[in-house]
Amino acid sequence: MNERIIRGRHEPAVVGDRRGRLDRPLKLAVGPKTATALEKLGPTTTGELLRYYPRRYGDRGRLTTLRELRVGEHVTVIAQVASSAVRPMRNKRGAILTATITDGRDHLTLTFFGKSAGTLSFHERRLRPGITGMFTGTVGEYRGTLQLTHPDYEPFEDLDEEFAAVQKVDWPVPIYPAGASIPSWRIATAVSTVLSAQGEQDVPEPLPAAYRRDHGLVGVLQALHWIHEPHSMSDVRRAQDRMKHEEAFVLQTALAQRRAAMRARPTTARPLRMGGIREAFESRLPFELTAGQREVGAVIADEIAEPVPMQRLLQGEVGSGKTVVALRAMLQVVDAGGQAALLAPTEVLASQHLRTVTELLGPLAEAGMLGGAEHATRVALLTGSQSAPARRKALASAASGEAGIVIGTHALLSENVQFADLGLVVIDEQHRFGVEQRDALRGKAQGTPHLLVMTATPIPRTVAMTSFGDLETSTLSELPAGRAGIETVVVPAGKPAWVERVWQRIREEVDDGGRAYVVCPRITATETEQGEEMVEDPDLLDDLPFTDDLIATGGLVDAAPRAAGPPRPPLASVEDVAALLRQVPALDGVTIGEMHGQLPTDAKDAAMAAFAAGTAPVLVSTTVIEVGVDVPAATVMVILDADRFGLSQLHQLRGRIGRGTKPGVCLAVTTAQKDSRAMARVQAFAGTTDGFRLAELDLQMRKEGDVLGAAQAGRGSSLRLLSVIKDVDIITAARAGARDLVERDPALVTEPDLAEVLAASIDEETAEYLQRF
Ligand code: ADP
Ligand code: MG
Repeated sequence: MNERIIRGRHEPAVVGDRRGRLDRPLKLAVGPKTATALEKLGPTTTGELLRYYPRRYGDRGRLTTLRELRVGEHVTVIAQVASSAVRPMRNKRGAILTATITDGRDHLTLTFFGKSAGTLSFHERRLRPGITGMFTGTVGEYRGTLQLTHPDYEPFEDLDEEFAAVQKVDWPVPIYPAGASIPSWRIATAVSTVLSAQGEQDVPEPLPAAYRRDHGLVGVLQALHWIHEPHSMSDVRRAQDRMKHEEAFVLQTALAQRRAAMRARPTTARPLRMGGIREAFESRLPFELTAGQREVGAVIADEIAEPVPMQRLLQGEVGSGKTVVALRAMLQVVDAGGQAALLAPTEVLASQHLRTVTELLGPLAEAGMLGGAEHATRVALLTGSQSAPARRKALASAASGEAGIVIGTHALLSENVQFADLGLVVIDEQHRFGVEQRDALRGKAQGTPHLLVMTATPIPRTVAMTSFGDLETSTLSELPAGRAGIETVVVPAGKPAWVERVWQRIREEVDDGGRAYVVCPRITATETEQGEEMVEDPDLLDDLPFTDDLIATGGLVDAAPRAAGPPRPPLASVEDVAALLRQVPALDGVTIGEMHGQLPTDAKDAAMAAFAAGTAPVLVSTTVIEVGVDVPAATVMVILDADRFGLSQLHQLRGRIGRGTKPGVCLAVTTAQKDSRAMARVQAFAGTTDGFRLAELDLQMRKEGDVLGAAQAGRGSSLRLLSVIKDVDIITAARAGARDLVERDPALVTEPDLAEVLAASIDEETAEYLQRF
């Protein structure tokens, strides 16, 4: 992966010796004790410490903060000692020192334990009543009183110190993500030591001067000073703005280089050919293409007709007809003498694609067979679970070029899969694959094949620009005409009559020739679907604020532990619900199928087939049916514990119904309380069928970290302040600037500092980050 990103990037022309200064081990800069404590939090070098930003900013001297203390919070307060006393412990050996500090209005207790009164005399001397100081600790509670146990503290020994503190009264106090090993103010002192040693030339400036000028951004050293030692919140905001631009610019430069490196590779042009399979296919299509399908189709047709590799992301609402768009592109390549591969995330989906494609192609997929068309090709299927002879046959037809289209799962990526002339790679439902897999498949071609990535999870523009920054984007927003639409109803699980009505509704639908999905969050009472990202406590998730909100507003980051609510009923599982439905009188005589990811492949296929054919018209399933499954007769979907799924996921699930001409009904059953945020989310889902709107809402309801993944939390992550959710303007500007720069100067000869920062950071971090998508 790293290699791939680096390839195409040239070594920076100049690397000064400045890096040495920012790469100093902390123990040389701030002493071994502090360094060890800091290392526990992440930073190990001076450069890393400077990028260890305050999590929020507090008010220093306004002695009102005692009022705001909350149990469990790690805090720093300035207050005056009102009283202190040492006494022996009541039931044990040892002594206890209790001091009360005050800001003039509220009080807080400090507690120190010692083996004897003597061991506490150090504290007793320093905590004389009347002394003012700065106290740091985690707020605890003892018999209803808030207290700090063994706080770190610094008494102001003389007036100078106190005066200095008072003078800074209006300056925001940086509050660092601190730990038990080192309090925030000690981090601030260490940062200040390191920062004051840096000159203008010591810190690399990755933002080009022209870009900074255009966007009114301060230089890197100024920004570091303002972020760590601000005199006002407007300093903080300007510094953060600049740092966000930097983060965006560095990432976008890496993406632009990746894109440029790809575009520079040789590719075979696959121009449209008249009188070929594609044309024959179009004349036998049973429906009119939508305007969107035609438009996107034309863009793709032009791109694959060029000797520059297409790199396109096609996002389309569930059911918008992406498969046909992809198939037309694949046939253009086949007409031009090449092959196309279609990679699907699950076996169910791969088999379904095979069925759809062979059906749509008819005799056009029967080359060399009796009844095959004059211009025709073959379609091969490659999956992990197929029999050895079937696999050998598929491998042979891919390698010989006999199969113009090869459809498969991950099995397509394995080493023994070879193509005669792979010209186009289509990846369905991209969110299930990483960049690495994308590249693995492209690596099977002599040149670089064209790439079409399809996703039904609408990706908000900013995320598309960040996660798929090396791809161009097209969108299919309209649904084919004649869809009857879906109605969604929220069903409170607490009302038995309503739930009865749900089963009744399924019965009616089945009697009318329809099919019903019943979706559960679990397989068994204890087992979840693998890779499932379930919301463990939906209300808690909703309550977590955004990181950058916190930085901007100085809010609290440590979510207070929530009081335990009433115990929740166990979550619905496929096993239990299937057993239940077999007993429900309303469904008497209806065969209930079961489906989840842990079933063997043939059992999955059998369940899907029985469902499609109508012999088992009710399918109890986990979210394995979420992706792309197309059973037009399915009209009802019941989602149990709907509040446990993310909004986008709910939307994906719902997209499985209402694919025919009969209207669909989605019943979202939930135990969420009436005015809870979990309920609000389910209601938002019921309120719109616009996938893009829901994707935006989903993002707003998630934590930033969930979007960016682990890379965000990791040490030395390159995205600290930038919010892919909110900083749309910054990401847009950085993308334009970075593309422009890379086009003019792909090796970044004119921007040695940027090259240096990229070389240092992109390899591990962004590569890891990119890989996630
Ligand atoms: P998705 O974009 O979710 O992958 P599909 O490609 O599976 O959607 O298409 C959904 C259904 O719509 C399929 O049954 C497909 O044959 C049908 N379809 C595609 N395009 C059209 C169209 N222009 N008119 C009518 N039906 C269409
Ligand atoms: Mg699809």
